Amino acid sequence: MARGVHIELHYCPIPTRSCMRLRLQKGTYALTSIGLESRCSRCRETWPADTEFFHSQPGSATGLSSICKACRSEWRAERRSAPQIREAA
Ligand SMILES: [Zn+2]
Repeated sequence: MARGVHIELHYCPIPTRSCMRLRLQKGTYALTSIGLESRCSRCRETWPADTEFFHSQPGSATGLSSICKACRSEWRAERRSAPQIREAA
């Protein structure tokens, strides 16, 4: 058995029809010449709505995370380096 072979597959999950309509209205989705693009809720940049730019999130209406991969790794790094005890403002 050829186990442990890592193949990077990127795909564009198909959002539900109502989700797509709502997101196009709100501007979180954009239909461009290259296809469907999704706006990251953190950096507000628009990226192709596929698993190359967003982590897949099976079970969600879009099938993708709402923040892009770059933001997600930044967010994780921030959380790791965040002090354990926060000073009261
Ligand atoms: Zn982002």
